[in-house]
Amino acid sequence: MGYFVEVEISPDKCAGLQECGACVKVCPVNIFEKRGGMPGVVATNEDECILCDLCLDECAPGAITIGKKY
Ligand code: SF4
Ligand code: SF4
Repeated sequence: MGYFVEVEISPDKCAGLQECGACVKVCPVNIFEKRGGMPGVVATNEDECILCDLCLDECAPGAITIGKKY
């Protein structure tokens, strides 16, 4: 959780790293990190997010939510 930006991945909607992983590939500042288990991806260093929306465009199931907290 960031102070200024919150990037959330819904585990219920995410297709999982093995099936998808698009967010990991597309984010220019590497917010999405691989983790074990399901869904296999977590958001980290969320305040580094530049609000480019590339992950939202690439996430077919709509599993990602970006929240501005300022
Ligand atoms: S792009 Fe969406 S569905 Fe694909 S791994 Fe990332 S959060 Fe999951
Ligand atoms: S909006 Fe852009 S910078 Fe922020 S998490 Fe998505 S791809 Fe990364």
